[in-house]
Amino acid sequence: MSDLLANLNSPQLQAVTLPPVHALILAGAGSGKTRVLTTRIAWLISTSQVGPHGVLAVTFTNKASKEMTARLSALLPINTRGMWIGTFHGLCNRLLRAHYREVGLPQTFQILDSGDQLSMIKRLLKNLNIDDEKFPPRELCHFINANKEQGIRAAQAEAYDNYTQKRVELYAEYETQCNREGVVDFAELLLRCYELLQRNEPLRQHYQERFRYILVDEFQDTNRLQYSWLKLLAGGGAKVFAVGDDDQSIYGFRGAEVGNMRDFERDYAGANVIRLEQNYRSHGNILAAANALIKNNRERLGKNLWTDAGAGEPIRAFEAYSDIDEARFVVDEIRELVREGVSPTQIAILYRSNAQSRVLEHELFAKSVPYKVYGGLRFFERQEIKHALAYLRLLGNPDDDTAFLRVVNFPTRGIGARSLENLQASAHQMNSSLYNAAASLTGKSGQAVGAFIRLIESLRQETENLPLPEMVEHIVEKTGLAQHYRLEKEGQERLENLDELINAAATFVDAEGAIGEGGALVSFLTHASLEAGEHQAGEGDEAVQLMSVHAAKGLEFDVVFVSGLEQGLFPHENSVNQGRDGIEEERRLMYVAVTRARQRLYLSCAQTRMLHGQTRYCVPSSFLDEIPLELLLKLNKKAAPLVTSFAGGYSAEPAVGGLRIGQTVEHGKFGIGVIVSTEGRGADARVQVNFSGNGMKWLALEYAKLTPV
Ligand code: ATP
Ligand code: MG
Repeated sequence: MSDLLANLNSPQLQAVTLPPVHALILAGAGSGKTRVLTTRIAWLISTSQVGPHGVLAVTFTNKASKEMTARLSALLPINTRGMWIGTFHGLCNRLLRAHYREVGLPQTFQILDSGDQLSMIKRLLKNLNIDDEKFPPRELCHFINANKEQGIRAAQAEAYDNYTQKRVELYAEYETQCNREGVVDFAELLLRCYELLQRNEPLRQHYQERFRYILVDEFQDTNRLQYSWLKLLAGGGAKVFAVGDDDQSIYGFRGAEVGNMRDFERDYAGANVIRLEQNYRSHGNILAAANALIKNNRERLGKNLWTDAGAGEPIRAFEAYSDIDEARFVVDEIRELVREGVSPTQIAILYRSNAQSRVLEHELFAKSVPYKVYGGLRFFERQEIKHALAYLRLLGNPDDDTAFLRVVNFPTRGIGARSLENLQASAHQMNSSLYNAAASLTGKSGQAVGAFIRLIESLRQETENLPLPEMVEHIVEKTGLAQHYRLEKEGQERLENLDELINAAATFVDAEGAIGEGGALVSFLTHASLEAGEHQAGEGDEAVQLMSVHAAKGLEFDVVFVSGLEQGLFPHENSVNQGRDGIEEERRLMYVAVTRARQRLYLSCAQTRMLHGQTRYCVPSSFLDEIPLELLLKLNKKAAPLVTSFAGGYSAEPAVGGLRIGQTVEHGKFGIGVIVSTEGRGADARVQVNFSGNGMKWLALEYAKLTPV
């Protein structure tokens, strides 16, 4: 046990060994919050203050909850399998599975991921003949989720204008549809669980008595509903131990409330507040940059991070001509680092937007650097995987219309859009699922749909007693999915992914052992919905890690590249438009990015970038200006300019790309301008153009199409 407490500093030790009281650990990045939380669980159990059964621990990502379970097993010889450690979604799912009857869900209820949710909303609007320009599906989706996250049902939602009134009605329709299909979206998992505990007193008492210690990591990112959920569970005298950092609150756009940290002290009277200020993660310069950045935010709870690790290296800053040039720089540096002996798994490339990964991936691939992407197009979100899962979902729950529509005509069975519209209309009239309404279809399309229903029924019988991996294999073959991709020109990769799904099912069964409520299939499908994105490369693969800054929360790496530091990208334009609050959330995100680095930090930006099919001309991020110059080492390569400026005169020098200074040119976006100077050669060549109306721009010749006029 003394081992357990060794290597803790004095406030950490104090936090870990607190008596049974409420506590708020308010501490900066890398100060050991997660370490303290995990160690406290181990301490409580090993000193018999509570059994593993009596602990509820919530973290923010699946990766973090796995990590916590693993660390706990390392600290204590206990079986962590049955413990309630997980994400809010995961834990609520577990509760709902155990009490599906009480909440009126089918035992095999399925979870809609955000893509499924959106397609369901689109379908709903279509069925109701609603103009989706007036009610854009994404906005409606956001409206519904935002209400749910505040615990507001359609029946309680208030509307002071006609437009909102209509949105509330659509919210109600959406609820009806979900209930009919027996599916729940992410926000619903929480809300449904909250309502269950609130209404069902015996059940509430049971869980309130069971969980004596409730521990929450990344508390700053809890939303209102999560906060209320915790409060409800803690209502029977449990002690809550919340750790968080207000400076790392990055989910405001999803309703997270830093105010929860302030409310905590009010709601949990007498709570101990402990601050951890020593950072064990990063070298001094990195920490100084982080501190300098974040001090520009207002209304911070305030803390001072320090380290005794020494200043370390300067922060490397690089301004590239283009996104491709930036990727080249990043990958060249990585190769150099790996040559010097840095492990690729200790190198992370972070970006603000997932779309940025493509160029980086291209360059990594071209230079044969192994890498792993988190997020983006996730394994469980790939088309072929979703098709296979849809079949599996229909076996479990025929009323799942989303799954039905996904595969009723895939592979093609001659069921046209028209027949499906008819089917949807009659299902709507009969107030039943598409599956049930199928019998009402007549004629040729009736036959085709009938054949599909028979296929599903026979698959159900055939797979009834098969172990999960064989069941998946059977489905992939017998539905014609595999054959479809075998015949498709580019189908090889998809086939491999389908094989990988069978592997995933096998791994899942091995790892989970005894399967929970609803059997292996339901557990596996739940896993697929909740755990998307973690299946890309095997554990322990020696690969560079690519992810969005959001996904990097709580993680740490020896070397971190933060790429795309451009105005409009990071800070993101959406947030810039939201004024000061928006910028401050972006700044916290930048703070999270910077504080992921242990030893070396690179910050890079590009002057031009292809995003969503358009070349953008970029200005470096304002966040770069907030980092003191003396911490930075600028790495820009200075190509010897051909002609430095207009003042150099009309030299007869052949300028780059057949263009010369003084020449008038036309650009697709900026219009007419005059070339003022040029620099670099070949792929690096750039020209500075003074556009009438649009001002001075530096353009990379390789990408900017300039036509002489
Ligand atoms: P974040 O805010 O990013 O989530 P955190 O506060 O949760 O960070 P941890 O991840 O728990 O911080 O710890 C950061 C690093 O510092 C880890 O590598 C951890 O093992 C190490 N660390 C924490 N406390 C100590 C200590 N007392 N002695 C040595 N190393 C420590
Ligand atoms: Mg942490």
